[in-house]
Amino acid sequence: MMMKPTYSIIAPVYNEEPVLHKLHERIAEVMDEVGEPWELLLVNDGSRDRSADIIAQLHSKDPRVRGISFSRNFGFQVAVTAGLDHAQGDAIILTDADLQDPPEVIPRMIEKWKEGFDVVYGVRGEREGETFFKKLTAKLFYRTIDVITGIDIPLDTGDFRLMDRRVVTALTGMRERNRFLRGMVPWVGFKQTGVTYQRHARFAGESKFNSVRQMLPFAMDAITSFSYFPMQLATFFGFFVAFLSLIAIVAVVLLRLLSSEVAFEGQASTLVMVLFLGGIQLISLGILGEYLGRIYDEVKGRPMYLIDKAWGIDKEE
Ligand code: UDP
Ligand code: MG
Repeated sequence: MMMKPTYSIIAPVYNEEPVLHKLHERIAEVMDEVGEPWELLLVNDGSRDRSADIIAQLHSKDPRVRGISFSRNFGFQVAVTAGLDHAQGDAIILTDADLQDPPEVIPRMIEKWKEGFDVVYGVRGEREGETFFKKLTAKLFYRTIDVITGIDIPLDTGDFRLMDRRVVTALTGMRERNRFLRGMVPWVGFKQTGVTYQRHARFAGESKFNSVRQMLPFAMDAITSFSYFPMQLATFFGFFVAFLSLIAIVAVVLLRLLSSEVAFEGQASTLVMVLFLGGIQLISLGILGEYLGRIYDEVKGRPMYLIDKAWGIDKEE
């Protein structure tokens, strides 16, 4: 039996065949330097390439590499969750598999952890090799979340971070299905800090989050998991329109009584108003639907993920 590791490094893997060997090499280099036992936990999120084979290969070569393979693609947040569920370390480090988060930052995070911090965020300085569109949407996203949700999500942090065991225990107890870890970690609290680093371009392969279609659900989860703001918008707007129409009623009555001219004529104005309000009502229904759908997901109580194969993971876990 292997010694219980002090550090667990978790990396979600989706079609990362060209980077896995390099990832292991770089992590091993850095972590051996640190000098305490560590494990690298790779969670294969239903990759369509040979990622699973490579994980098996790495595990047989170096038993400090452990692996989980999902039965299909369950998404990034769930892959990370499975990693947290199975990590054994006292400090757990989340990183992307593509080496965009340089492993060399980990010792700096460990230093902070030893100073007594429970969460050490990687704060992104420069972002190399990313499109203008990606940088702009990321910036907008962080600012919006910050304003809308009461949760204070540190700006320009990704998922690259170190967490103490007690933070991870808290997180693994939160079984919500539409997960937004970047918000859940600040929600948990404890002593948190950040270290700044340069985010590199991908080592190889390509990004899985580049289009609006992929990022929008992520943003929706982020907003709906932490605030009722969209629903409150409907309420505010309702009050606003009701107030305006009260004034309008008085105005129309007065105009009718005091002047001989007909103030409002034709169906166009009526039609425009009805369509406008109809639109607002449908949007409000849609917002309700977003929340209702999420409640439905929770109520079904399905397992968050299904494991197909595992390497170095105890069956009882
Ligand atoms: N990933 C995953 N499941 C998915 C999509 C991505 O586990 O459905 C992993 C991917 O292998 C990588 C990490 O999530 O390790 C970040 O993905 P990516 O590098 O494509 O995103 P970006 O860095 O461009 O935001
Ligand atoms: Mg990446």
